[in-house]
Amino acid sequence: MSISVKNISKQFGNQWAVNNISFEIKSGEIVGFIGPNGAGKSTTMKIITGYLPPGSGEVFINGMNTREKSMDIKRIIGYLPENNPLYHDMYVKEYLLYSAGLYGLKGKKAIARVNEIIDMVGLGPEKHKKIGKLSKGYKQRVGISQALVHDPLVLILDEPTSGLDPNQIIEIRNLISNVGREKTVMLSTHIMQEVEAICDRVIILDKGIIRADEGAKNIGKNRLSGQTIQIELESAVSLEIWKKLKEVEEVRELAGNIYLLASSQKEDIRSKIFQFAVKQNLTVLSMSQKEKSLEDIFRELTAKQ
Ligand code: ADP
Repeated sequence: MSISVKNISKQFGNQWAVNNISFEIKSGEIVGFIGPNGAGKSTTMKIITGYLPPGSGEVFINGMNTREKSMDIKRIIGYLPENNPLYHDMYVKEYLLYSAGLYGLKGKKAIARVNEIIDMVGLGPEKHKKIGKLSKGYKQRVGISQALVHDPLVLILDEPTSGLDPNQIIEIRNLISNVGREKTVMLSTHIMQEVEAICDRVIILDKGIIRADEGAKNIGKNRLSGQTIQIELESAVSLEIWKKLKEVEEVRELAGNIYLLASSQKEDIRSKIFQFAVKQNLTVLSMSQKEKSLEDIFRELTAKQ
């Protein structure tokens, strides 16, 4: 099951929410969609799920065009929309049975599937409550359950871990990783560690434009324009001392005696730093090369000019 987004654009009034973006997602792939608020993530997800037509361009889900096969596509897509809209007056089980019914699951089959999902998502202790009475974390689990109830092949999750506490975040991430092995998953998030923890690939969107589309694990390595060295000395020194080292262009103090030294040079400058430290009578306790984090890259690509 694949998602193929081809040159889609969407305009609201004069504003381009999505501006000519294209990407493909293969079966078994978990793709993280990140970008500042207003970047166009939710709009893109609504277009992929067929809830919003693109202004121009096309989306194909397993070869089916969302403009032509909207109902067929909805049958195979599970979607957690932004802000997790739910019926607060319904009971958890009642709502999930209702959701199952929308996908044609009825009777014993529906009850068995709903019970299975309740266990899978960890809703057991709260399953007899009204949705409106649940904590935000449990409401989020109900939203994820309705997205999974018909065992969809494609999962589109708009901020699935929003509002969860750190333990719940780990549980939901594990769930997405497990179900993601045999599905095609796209999720949006503001948590960079989430992308690093569970995504194979990351797409960074800003002002409706794709700024990066790369493997989540090596995005830092791929973008090493220079190098950053972390050095720990036995005792603190004045930041001025590093100015004598011509290879170092920027210095940041991390803690009293730990410094980050940035250089635009390509070749490893650690031996130069070491020799410099010896000359200056500084005792080096440790030194390591730092990769750019996804957070650094995100900020570089999306910071306001
Ligand atoms: P994100 O999910 O990345 O925060 P959105 O896709 O929600 O971004 O929004 C992208 C831009 O499109 C925003 O500037 C938003 O205000 C605008 N937008 C989204 N939906 C509508 C709408 N229905 N009407 C008018 N503007 C909208």
